[in-house]
Amino acid sequence: MRRRALLVSLAALSGTAIWPGLAWPGLAWPGLARGAGIDSTEQPRLLLVIDDVGHSLVAGRRTLALPGPINCAFLPHSAHGRDLALEARALGKGIMLHAPMANSQHLALGPGALTPDLSKAELQRILREDLDAIPHVAGVNNHMGSLLTSRRQPMEWVMEVLRERKLWFVDSRTTASTLAWQVAQEQGIPALMRDVFLDHEQTPAFVHRQFLRGLSIAREYGSALMIGHPHDVTLDYLHEALPLMDELGFQRLTVSAFLHQQADFARLDPADRRLMNMHRRHWGMG
Ligand SMILES: [Zn+2]
Repeated sequence: MRRRALLVSLAALSGTAIWPGLAWPGLAWPGLARGAGIDSTEQPRLLLVIDDVGHSLVAGRRTLALPGPINCAFLPHSAHGRDLALEARALGKGIMLHAPMANSQHLALGPGALTPDLSKAELQRILREDLDAIPHVAGVNNHMGSLLTSRRQPMEWVMEVLRERKLWFVDSRTTASTLAWQVAQEQGIPALMRDVFLDHEQTPAFVHRQFLRGLSIAREYGSALMIGHPHDVTLDYLHEALPLMDELGFQRLTVSAFLHQQADFARLDPADRRLMNMHRRHWGMG
């Protein structure tokens, strides 16, 4: 992808005219205005999670080479998960456990899977072993999980372990009937939900369209959490698109940094919030 064409197509969405007359080939651009739901002085925030890291060293290293704040979700007991997590730590990337959870299609889950037939003690022991397998984990999201995340009791058991380890949770939302985010909230676990999957179709046009959806959600609601995978098409796209985000006015954050920011913000009174938004705008402070 040519950087200039990509920048122009992304700018079309953000409402900033850069080199008018050019457009991303083959794709239509809806005229999106700045959303009403976000304070006009606040920078929209982008959170990017790359799932399924750990099987391939090459794809893992390309993921870690993505510029700026990204979150890598490592499969437990995977061939390179532990080593890549140590590299991620050294590079200042966010580190997550990508916890395999039972799905309704009966797809293979690999080692460390959490399934509905497990007792509370067994499920929590497996989850603790998964967490111990990946160093420096700050939070967890679910790998698959369309079955398990729709069951309240195992989700309560999962969140108990997260609370004990002071970890946050991202609900990948692999089913509309997921209870994971809700149960996390009820138990006081800092939790976010996935807004966009980038690459369930692995073509450049699809990834681009999904990424734009993420930008438009961030503009409208203040933030967006996008999940991709270490596929070549996704990594090629992100290596080109991510360096442009700063120029287009989006702030990129790890999930941990975002949750700290939200927690700090919630403690401020309204006047201080306005001041903090000004600081963020002018100094990029988080
Ligand atoms: Zn996964």
